[in-house]
Amino acid sequence: MRKKKIGFIGTGVMGTSIVKHLLKADYEVQIYNRTKSKASELMELGAVWQNTPAEVAENAEVIITMVGYPTDVEEVYYGDNGIFQTASKRHILIDMTTSTPTLANKIYQTGKEKGIAVLDAPVSGGDLGAKNGTLTVMVGGDQAAFDSIKSIFEEFSSKLNLQGSAGSGQHTKMANQIMVAGTMTGMTELLVYAKAAGLDVEKVLDTVGGGSAQNWSLSNYGPRILKEDYSAGFFIKHFVKDLKIALDEAKRMNLNLPATALAEKLYEELEGKGNGNDGTQALIKLWWEN
Ligand code: NAP
Repeated sequence: MRKKKIGFIGTGVMGTSIVKHLLKADYEVQIYNRTKSKASELMELGAVWQNTPAEVAENAEVIITMVGYPTDVEEVYYGDNGIFQTASKRHILIDMTTSTPTLANKIYQTGKEKGIAVLDAPVSGGDLGAKNGTLTVMVGGDQAAFDSIKSIFEEFSSKLNLQGSAGSGQHTKMANQIMVAGTMTGMTELLVYAKAAGLDVEKVLDTVGGGSAQNWSLSNYGPRILKEDYSAGFFIKHFVKDLKIALDEAKRMNLNLPATALAEKLYEELEGKGNGNDGTQALIKLWWEN
């Protein structure tokens, strides 16, 4: 069967790794990124540069977006040179940005009016999950659209589920981030406590990682902290964005999530200190840099 032509918008930390998997699987990939220089590695690998999101859509059938914030998503879909300028019934549009369920619904509705299939498909698994092709993908939208893109997404994921109607992918991602807020603050305070108690912190990580405290944040970010590697797999600025979305959605549902609210406050404090471009493991700087 002929492979669908893919368009990919947003070749940052996650997008670059995902496109590499698609190229490796022999897909033809058209790319666009706000800063062109960040796409040069992919161009060398065979991806084809287009000057605008609208041009990406003109030259591909399955359009995937993975930009930073909901405002960026609005721009790439609805802007003057946005996807909807050229998208038509032959397209499937998939937003993988972590964005709001409301915007996911809006894009879905616009697509519906134009006869275009739309999915929201945020991911979990971090920069390493993207590099290794083992991302978890949480999809919202219609079954038929999901079925038609499944084989493409299997090139870079190890878990892929349709969660429900449009916006359900983003809601699932928010549930995921609520959990991650807990594991990140828990891991950070574990390290702070262990060090203050005079323990061999590396040994503590090794030991508790085998017991009931075992979790993804601990095994992926604990070692980075011990190496004082605070570079971004996942940016603090993006985690603040995610936690704000989760808290907004919770408020809409009349839910009080005090632990998530505290985690958001701590990360916002760190962002306020100029650490927004650090990775989320840099939370520990609130203790260890004082
Ligand atoms: P990133 O490195 O900042 O990548 C985002 C890319 O989108 C950047 O290259 C950026 O361009 C581009 N972009 C932003 N606005 C654009 C626009 N209007 N038009 C074209 N390109 C635009 O971030 P990331 O870590 O890959 O994350 C991307 C999304 O995935 C975020 O929503 C994040 O929350 C989510 N996510 C990240 C991870 C992770 O571990 N990194 C995990 C799960 C989900 P510039 O080069 O100009 O900035």
